[in-house]
Amino acid sequence: MTLFERIIHGEIPASFVYEDDLAVAFRDIHPQAPTHVLVVPRRPITSLSASRGEDAALLGHLLVVVAEVARREGLGGGYRVVINDGAHGGQTVPHLHLHLLGGRGLGWPPG
Ligand code: 5GP
Repeated sequence: MTLFERIIHGEIPASFVYEDDLAVAFRDIHPQAPTHVLVVPRRPITSLSASRGEDAALLGHLLVVVAEVARREGLGGGYRVVINDGAHGGQTVPHLHLHLLGGRGLGWPPG
């Protein structure tokens, strides 16, 4: 079971900000911005690169959830959405997740 499945099943505590049938969102334990929320599908797709055509609706849903959480967090000034994929992308948890970062100006390009 992935770390994020254990969080979804309540085995590891987390600060949830959103839940529905397909996805959850909770605050990152090491926030990189005033708002740093992880949007995670309940189904443990390993990574974006492991997704397939049949995942299209779920992937779209995750973006809609990001936008909803951003509204709830009051990120009217803008925000960034990040998916780290694989070793070069800096992915550390093998369960697809979208980082929602906001609450301050964010530099570009990322490191
Ligand atoms: P990745 O590096 O895979 O893109 O992102 C994984 C994220 O999960 C990191 O930002 C990391 O801080 C966060 N994280 C790791 N362990 C935990 C945990 O136990 N609880 C929470 N809420 N976040 C975690």
